[in-house]
Amino acid sequence: MSTETTGLATASGTDITWPDLPAQQQPTWLDPAELAQVLSVLATYPPLVFAGECDLLRTRMAAVSQGRAFTLQGGDCAETLADVTGPNIRDRIKTILQMAVVLTYGAGMPIVKVGRVAGQFAKPRSSDTETRDGVTLPAYRGDMVNGFEFTPEARRHDPDRLLRAYHASSATLNLVRGFTSGGFADLRSVHAWNKGFIQGPAQARYEQMAYQIDRAVRFLEASGVADAEEMRRVEFFSAHEALVLDYERPMVRRDHRTGLLYDTSSHFVWVGERTRDLDGAHIDFVSRVQNPIGIKLGPTADRDTVLRLMDKVDPDREPGRLTFITRMGASTIREVLPGLLTSLGDEASRVSWICDPMHGNTFTSPSGYKTRRFEDVVEEVRGFFAAHEEAGTHPGGLHVELTGNDVTECVGGTTAAIDLEDLGLRYETLCDPRLNHQQSLELAFIVAEMLER
Ligand code: PEP
Ligand code: MN
Repeated sequence: MSTETTGLATASGTDITWPDLPAQQQPTWLDPAELAQVLSVLATYPPLVFAGECDLLRTRMAAVSQGRAFTLQGGDCAETLADVTGPNIRDRIKTILQMAVVLTYGAGMPIVKVGRVAGQFAKPRSSDTETRDGVTLPAYRGDMVNGFEFTPEARRHDPDRLLRAYHASSATLNLVRGFTSGGFADLRSVHAWNKGFIQGPAQARYEQMAYQIDRAVRFLEASGVADAEEMRRVEFFSAHEALVLDYERPMVRRDHRTGLLYDTSSHFVWVGERTRDLDGAHIDFVSRVQNPIGIKLGPTADRDTVLRLMDKVDPDREPGRLTFITRMGASTIREVLPGLLTSLGDEASRVSWICDPMHGNTFTSPSGYKTRRFEDVVEEVRGFFAAHEEAGTHPGGLHVELTGNDVTECVGGTTAAIDLEDLGLRYETLCDPRLNHQQSLELAFIVAEMLER
C-alpha cells in the first residue's frame, strides 16, 4: 500500500439508505436488537482501507485491463479467526510475493498483488443446513457468521462475530502493511522469502531464480540506477467477497475529498457467482461504492447478462473499475469463454478479465474430501489464455485459493504430487481446498511461461 495515497473517508455508515432488494446467502440473525447494536458500533469503527488506496488500485487495474500489467489474487477460501496468527499471515504473504516475483521475472511486466485476506470470513453455501447422523443444524457460513463446530450453540448466527471479523481483519491488515512496507518485502530479500518452507523442486527452482535476481539487483545498485527506497516496499492490496451486507454496509464511508462512497472494509471486493443477480442487493451495493469491483462469471454467463452487469456496475466504462473473474471449469472454458468474449466485441476490452481456475474444478474424493486436481487448475488457465488469444483480449490475471502451509488439500502437482489417498494427511481447510506452497510456486512457474510468449 502506497504512502502517497490520501483521502481519509469520513464516518457515514449510518447516513445512507439502502434500497430493500432481495439478498441471497444472508445470515438469519435471531435478535434484531443485538444486530442493531452491532451495526451501529461497526459504523463508528475506523476504516480498514482509505479511499485513495482504492483509487490507486483502480489505476493499477486499468493497466491490467489494457494488458500492461497482470494481477495475482490469492489466499484462503475462508479465513478463520483461529488462523489469524503471525506465522500463517506471514507465510501466505511470502507465498504470494514469491509467486509474484516468478511472474514478474517471466512476464517482464508489473504484477498487481492482491491478497484474499483481511475480510474473507464469510461463505456462500449450497444448502442452508447440514445433517450429520440424523441431526440437522444451520450450515457453517464462515467465522463472520457462525462457528464450524457441529453444535447448536456454535452454528447459531451471532452478530457479535461481525465485530470479531472486523478486529481480525484489522490485525491481519496491520501485519500485512508491516510486512510489505517495513523492509520484509525488500527485493533484496527474495532469498529470504523461500526460507522456512518445506524444500522441494519448486523451491529449488525459485532459489536459482532468486540468485539471478540478486545479481541483477546488485548490478543496478552498483550502477547507481536502483532506488533503494522503492525496492524496500511493495504495493499489496486486500480483497474479499462482499457477501454479508450487514458487514459491508456499515463499513461504507464518504470520502471527504469528493463526497463519494467507498467500502472501507477492503481495497477490492467481488460479488460471487451465486449472488450476482442483476436485480439483487449485492450488485446494487457494489454499484454504489467507488472501489475496484470484481464479479465472478460461471459457465452459464451469457452476453446479455455480462453487458447488463457492466451497465449497472460500470456505466461509464471507467478504466480499472470492473473485473470479471471467470470460473468456467477446465473442461468447459475452451467451449464457452472464446464465444462470450467475441460476442461482447469492443466492450470486452473495457474491463479486466482474470481467471479463477479453482471453483469450476471441485470434486469429492472417494474418501469424502472436497478437492481439486492441480492438472485441472493448470488446464483451465491454459484455456483462459487460449480464449483471450482467440478473442484478441488480454488475459489479466489469476485468482487462486492458496496457503503457505504444507497442506494436502488439492491432488496432483508436477513434482511432489499429492495422491487421492494422501488427502487425509493434512487436510485443514474448513471450506474449499487450497494449493499448498509447493503447488502455488509450481503454478506460478507454469503461468510465467504462458506470459513469456
Ligand atoms: C469463492 O471464491 O470462494 C467462491 C465461493 O466462489 P464462486 O462465487 O465463484 O463460487
Ligand atoms: Mn472457495
